[in-house]
Amino acid sequence: HLYNLVQDLKGNIRVYCRIRPAFNHEVQNVIDFTGEDGSLIVVDPKLQKDGKKMFQFNHVFGPTATQDEVFSDTRQLIRSVMDGYNVCIFAYGQTGSGKTYTMSGPPGGSTKELGISYLALNDLFELSSQRKDITKYEIQVQMVEIYNEQVRDLLAEDSCAKKLEIRSCVSDNSLALPDATLCPVKSPADVINLMKLGEVNRAVGSTALNIRSSRSHSVLSVHVHGEDTSGSIINSCLHLVDLAGSERVDKSEVTGDGLREAQHINKSLSCLVDVITALAQKNSHIPYRNSKLTLLLQNSLGGNSKTLMFAHVNPEDNSFAETMSTLKFAQRVS
Ligand code: ADP
Ligand code: MG
Repeated sequence: HLYNLVQDLKGNIRVYCRIRPAFNHEVQNVIDFTGEDGSLIVVDPKLQKDGKKMFQFNHVFGPTATQDEVFSDTRQLIRSVMDGYNVCIFAYGQTGSGKTYTMSGPPGGSTKELGISYLALNDLFELSSQRKDITKYEIQVQMVEIYNEQVRDLLAEDSCAKKLEIRSCVSDNSLALPDATLCPVKSPADVINLMKLGEVNRAVGSTALNIRSSRSHSVLSVHVHGEDTSGSIINSCLHLVDLAGSERVDKSEVTGDGLREAQHINKSLSCLVDVITALAQKNSHIPYRNSKLTLLLQNSLGGNSKTLMFAHVNPEDNSFAETMSTLKFAQRVS
């Protein structure tokens, strides 16, 4: 509760940075990461020591940070969903920077390195069982993909069958996606099965999966309903979002459908950037309605809700420009 209080005083957006390990050790590393205080230094590979820039975040996870370390710093925030807070955690960064690794884990689903989504749900089950004499909880999940400004249900039998409509649910905290499949979950095994189904469905109907998955947003929504012995009720939601790659799509290289896609991607992601920026600046108007993604996340961004962004960066010098652009945005909102 002290943590919640501190959050309320500070504003509700936190930014963590995570540096992916280098794959190719021959390549120059532009990030100088020293440690604990949430700062990191990027060295311009062309200017070397004259081109150092320092950034400051709530926390920086270096290339050797484990999934458990990342989770344990996120746990309190996640647990606040069981006290009735809406929480939104999203992974931002260029394609290949580790967004999916943080949220879900490595490809192929090794159970050793499960990501935040699994660890979070397991932890919520644990908390629910610890509190079972005081509060009765029900946990349900939805999983959708937003691609080309269209929302697709990843837990449906036929995930391509219909496009989902988003309903504004700010006033009553009802479901933003009333028609998306809502699955009750009771155990870690339930969660693993659903995530597998979601991954299979994500691949369906896409000719070039890699391109598609780097250009779509996937949103796992965890709905928590709780009723305590005095009869008071909470309804809250935790959104776990694996965003499309933040790299700029070069419009000169795409035409036709590709161009439409490029514009839509820029739209949803740039609208999220606008919303986060407006919240960080405490503007009176927050432009939620400009994209599907921000409309869906509306009641877990701003107000009393808690937002955590993971800014992912690659350490290598050939990613220097994208790394700087990710860090500048992340710094601006933290
Ligand atoms: P993104 O989702 O941003 O495109 P991925 O999560 O797919 O990036 O990461 C790209 C590759 O790097 C994957 O093979 C992933 O397993 C690996 N990877 C990313 N972050 C880490 C990390 N912190 N530790 C180990 N491997 C990582
Ligand atoms: Mg990914």
